Parts: sequence; structure tokens; C-alpha cells
Amino acid sequence: MIIKPRVRAFMCVTAHPTGCSKEMDKQIAYIKSKGAIEAGPKNVLIIGASTGYGLSTRITAAFGCKSSTLGVFFERPAENGKTASPGWYNTAALQKAAREEGLYAESINGDAFSNEIKDQVIAKIQADLGKIDLVIYSLASPRRVDPNTGEVFRATLKPTDKVFSSMTLDTDKKRIENITLPCANEDELNGTIKVMGGEDWALWIDRLLAEGVLSEGARSIAYSYIGPKVTWPIYRNGTIGTAKKHLETTGRTLNEKMATIGGTAHVAVCKAVVTQASSAIPVVPLYMSILFKVMKKKGVNEGCIEQIHRLFVEKVYSGKGLVLDDDQRLRVDDFEMREDIQTEINEIWPTLTNDNFHQIADFDGYQKEFMSLFGFGIDGVDYTQDVNEEVSL
Ligand code: NAD
Repeated sequence: MIIKPRVRAFMCVTAHPTGCSKEMDKQIAYIKSKGAIEAGPKNVLIIGASTGYGLSTRITAAFGCKSSTLGVFFERPAENGKTASPGWYNTAALQKAAREEGLYAESINGDAFSNEIKDQVIAKIQADLGKIDLVIYSLASPRRVDPNTGEVFRATLKPTDKVFSSMTLDTDKKRIENITLPCANEDELNGTIKVMGGEDWALWIDRLLAEGVLSEGARSIAYSYIGPKVTWPIYRNGTIGTAKKHLETTGRTLNEKMATIGGTAHVAVCKAVVTQASSAIPVVPLYMSILFKVMKKKGVNEGCIEQIHRLFVEKVYSGKGLVLDDDQRLRVDDFEMREDIQTEINEIWPTLTNDNFHQIADFDGYQKEFMSLFGFGIDGVDYTQDVNEEVSL
């Protein structure tokens, strides 16, 4: 079929297999250009492995460290004339490239919050890998079914202390609009913590430890975001940030548990990048458009793959131990949070209007990256050509 983008608000409901595959090639080539990561892990479990930060971690582990990778994700294959989801196409391309190099790359598609998927993962590790020495937790989900009670919890993106009004980007209309977000109620806050907090990460680590499938000295890392004050009402101090603080607290408990096998568990704070998860957060796409403009001007902008490569080589596998901040977190958001960069963003923010934001923010860059998540707008892909949407894993 000929596949065209069909964008609905902050989602594109179609994806292009050739475009996604080319994006994979680009990330793989980047990692290979950086050379081997000698002290890297051997067997890596990535929970949330098909897009965004989890996918880049899988690429870094496989092509930088020659690791065997087991990926868990929730993606949709092509069906009834509909394309697969981008994470499906990404994974197909990644597995093909890894296997061509003789690397183990297997995947489990299903609900990582469920007991059934945890069972399947344990069985797969026992059958194929024996033990894991790095567990990455990179889920971003709007809902979670509690595996024991069956209760459904939903994540909400709202402030927690007072009504918040701000400029935001309407990415459909390509316009700046004003948005007013009401304060979350207690159920909404608790639901967000249930979905995006640390409970499920802890269930994974408890289970992996109990089954004895983590090797001596194994590490676990979960991804988080803090960001600047301009987004704090909706992010750091909002429902999602409260869930992330829960993730950080959980990390400290898990670090103690991992110590029983000489291992570690930490949160890694990454920079704002365009992913399916971040494009859904109000205000953040507008902030990112300015951030990219400023960071590109200073030559320090990074995407997921550059961030994770730096996390591996500078903060985790440098051979000199973990590099942590005072709160026991790994930080690769250091460039984003640099004072000169944030000062410039703070100067630009109040001057933004619909007349000038294409010049003083990098909205075109934001949009290009958004479309590329779905395999569109990629150089060298002829979108007028027929392509088989059915790709197997
Ligand atoms: P993403 O949407 O690109 O990826 C989410 C992944 O989770 C996908 O692989 C998806 O298949 C998987 N997933 C979702 N629900 C699942 C389920 N029920 N079972 C199995 N897999 C499921 O998101 P992302 O932006 O890469 O986010 C990953 C982590 O990184 C999140 O914790 C996020 O908060 C954090 N982070 C993101 C940013 C950013 O700017 N995007 C910045 C810092 C930290």
C-alpha cells in the first residue's frame, strides 16, 4: 500500500516501515561511529524497548556493547489494511540488523504491567540467556491494569496545587494558544502515581531477584525527567512529576535490594526529546521548540541516541563506577539545564507570539522529529511507492 501520514492531534495513526527502518539505520550508524563500549553489559532486558529512550538504549547495548537484548513493549502489528505501530516497525528493523551481526535480539509484545508478561520474560531469560546484567525501565503509558486486583488506573497530565494557565503549542493548527488546566483531584493524582510511579519497576526487580535471573553486580536504570521551572507547574510539580518523584524514591529502595547481589538501581534523568510520550504533554512541545533552537545554536542539542550513548560511556560504563548527583541520580540532562541555555529560554519565552515563533523557536525541527517518529519525512524514502505494511518480527 501507499502509506501517507494521518496526524490526529499529538498522534499519527499511520507509520511507514521503510521510514522507520531508515531511522533505525541512522541510530545504529551513530552508535557504531562512536566505537565499542568495552565495559558494557552482556545481557540486557529493556522494558519499553520499541520507541524513544528504551529503543535507543537497546541500540546502544546491541551495537555499542555487543549485548544480547530482550525487549518488552506494547505494539500493534499491521491488520486489516492498517499499518503497524512505529515501535513494531522499529523493532523489526532492529532485530534484523542485530541478527545480521550475529547478536541475540528477541522481543515480547504485551502488557509489561501484567503478571503474564513477567512470567514470559522470566521463562525466556531462563531458556536463552541465563542471567541479565542490565534492566532498563522505560515505560510511558496512559493506563495500567493492576496485575493483582484488575483495577484500571489512568495517568493524567495536570497541575497538583493550583489551576495553571500558560501558552502551549497547538501542533495541529501550528499556532500558539493559551491553555488553562484545572488542578488534579486525589484520584487523578493517585492514578498517575500508580501508572508512572515506581510500583511496577519494583514488581519487576522483586520478581527478577526472586527468580535468581540477575547476575552478580547487575544494574537497573529507570528514566525520568525534571526540566526547567517554566514547565514545573505541569511537569515536575504536576501529576506526572509527582509520579516521577515516586519512581525516584522507589529507586532508593531498589538500590538497597540490588545491593544483596552487589548490584545497583538508579533513576537516570534525561533531557526533553520528541517522543510519542512527550508530545502529549501540554506546554512541553512549545518549550522543546525553543530548547532545540537554543541548544542547536550552541551545538549541544541531543536526541535519544546521543543521550543514551553519553549515559553509557560517561555515567555508567566508564569503568570508574557510577557518576551520580547528590540525590543518587544519573544525570544526562546537564546540557539542557545549563544556566546559559535556560537563561536564553527564559528571555525568549515571554516574547513568543504567533507572528514570531517560527523564527525564535525551532518549530520546524520539532515537527520534523515528530513525523520521523512514525517514519515520515525521512530523506531517501520515496513515499509515492507501494510498500508492504505487513512486516513480521
Ligand atoms: P515512548 O512513548 O517513546 O516509549 C514508551 C515505551 O513503552 C514503548 O516501547 C511502548 O511500547 C512501551 N509501553 C507502553 N505501555 C506499555 C505496556 N503496558 N506494556 C509494555 N510496553 C509498554 O516514551 P519515552 O519518551 O521514550 O519515555 C520512556 C521513559 O523516558 C519514560 O519514563 C519517560 O518519562 C522518560 N523520559 C522521557 C523524556 C522525553 O522527553 N521524552 C525525557 C526524560 C525522561
